[in-house]
Amino acid sequence: MEAARLIPVDDDLDTGGFFEAARRGELVIRMCNGCDAVLHVPTAYCHSCGSWDGRWQAVAGGGSLYSWTTVAHQVHPAYPVPYTVVLVELDDAPAARLVGLLPGAPELAVGQPMEVWFETVDDGVVLPQWRPATKEQTT
Ligand SMILES: [Zn+2]
Repeated sequence: MEAARLIPVDDDLDTGGFFEAARRGELVIRMCNGCDAVLHVPTAYCHSCGSWDGRWQAVAGGGSLYSWTTVAHQVHPAYPVPYTVVLVELDDAPAARLVGLLPGAPELAVGQPMEVWFETVDDGVVLPQWRPATKEQTT
């Protein structure tokens, strides 16, 4: 029997909107309506201006590779090694960096273009994931 993936809580008050958008194939970040600060990791409260008024802002699914690590020692049966955990800085919101998982140990470079894709992992939970961009981005 295959081990189950680790699944995030996807209906939390602070982060539920992120996963709800992912189910629609949309990438969003939390932003403050009071001061337009990026609230990442998503939270209902803005630590910049004290507002509780926020919104989910759609962003393009492009970013650049900020950092990564390749895991060679297996710690969970659902995650065969090697795999690579990437940290991607969003083109539309550099204050927000999202984590993704790449199978294997690919050749990567800091700053290389990355693109989002949406992985359905279990019970309708959808995770934004990242992979090297397949075409040149126009910005
Ligand atoms: Zn604010």
